[in-house]
Amino acid sequence: MAKILGVIGGGQLGLMLTEAANQMSEYISHVIVLDPTPNCPASKAGAKQIIADFKDEDAILELAEKSDIITYEIESGNSDVLKKLEDKSVINPSPETLKIIQDKLEQKKFLLKNKIPIAEFMEVNNLDELKKIIINFGLPVLLKVRKDAYDGRGNYKISSTDEISKAYSSFNNKPLMVEKFIDFKMEVSVIASRNTNGEISTYPVVENIHEENILRMTIAPARVSDVVRNKAESIAHKTMEVLKGAGVFGIEMFVTSDDEILINEIAPRVHNSGHHTLQSSKTSQFEQHLRAILGLELGSTELTHHTVMCNILGPDNFHGKYKPITIDSDDAFLKMYGKEISKPKRKLGHFNVVDINNSKNTEKLIERVNEIKNSISFQN
Ligand code: ATP
Ligand code: MG
Repeated sequence: MAKILGVIGGGQLGLMLTEAANQMSEYISHVIVLDPTPNCPASKAGAKQIIADFKDEDAILELAEKSDIITYEIESGNSDVLKKLEDKSVINPSPETLKIIQDKLEQKKFLLKNKIPIAEFMEVNNLDELKKIIINFGLPVLLKVRKDAYDGRGNYKISSTDEISKAYSSFNNKPLMVEKFIDFKMEVSVIASRNTNGEISTYPVVENIHEENILRMTIAPARVSDVVRNKAESIAHKTMEVLKGAGVFGIEMFVTSDDEILINEIAPRVHNSGHHTLQSSKTSQFEQHLRAILGLELGSTELTHHTVMCNILGPDNFHGKYKPITIDSDDAFLKMYGKEISKPKRKLGHFNVVDINNSKNTEKLIERVNEIKNSISFQN
């Protein structure tokens, strides 16, 4: 019997999950999302919507009552409420895993305990402690807010001792941790999945280009040696073996100057760096997530075409309704998220430039991306 899928979060990830669910009507009859924004992106693909805050206990209970299985597309949901629901409802990835991942310090402790390589880190409880850690670690370090951070907004790079107090007080007594600053040569990620039967699969490692802490471009596959590729994919596999629950996970990593791989952080959900799979791969990350939580056999993660994904971000100098964006090109696939209002750096959509001729020329694909990116305008 087809199931009702409940999703916490109905933004662009919820939209693309709903679209994947619409293609799997044999297994999913319909989708309900919980999201505070009326007419959220997922609702535009036919998802029903409960309008409430992601952490609203009553709304989560209502979602659980109306759904057969629950998943989420944001990591800031209420893991304590989900934990309480676990006896009655099927929730994946497991609330226990969500709780670990939500707190960067707990996440790093978990990875350390499981011997998964990460940057050296410490808990920070007060300014004096931070100063002592810095004497030991040396500079630079990255001071991080433990919870609810995104797009690098909870990070402060400390490069000199006179910045320490300012960095510490900028976070208004929120729980903090500090990490050694890694002078990485590349940021990569692996989209990994595990189904309810324990089957694990990984997509090929991809390269991520950030600008001002926001993902701008993902290059699939990453321009790394086979040794680095294998290392990244096997670390992702090992991580999936120790994490409980089913679903797709986005595992962000650094490649250091001596080709070591360190995990930066894990997202317990479909991930921006997996959007290329909509065109590049036999199975999209969205279908894979649904297959994983439904207990279906995982789909093939083979990359059939080299692809570069580019995020379409709201321009810095503009706030308001923007004109419809179109791209007329055989090799570019545009996905807009149905957000009517542009705000600076808001993720409004993305496009994938696909190597349709199989030339495997990554530089050419990046050139195409830049041409298209520069041709997009938001105002008349
Ligand atoms: P996201 O950007 O994925 O929303 P976030 O705000 O939680 O996540 P992180 O992923 O922890 O932040 O860090 C954002 C960026 O900061 C990373 O992509 C990386 O470029 C840089 N960064 C994070 N930790 C370190 C580190 N220890 N050393 C060097 N750079 C780091
Ligand atoms: Mg990150």
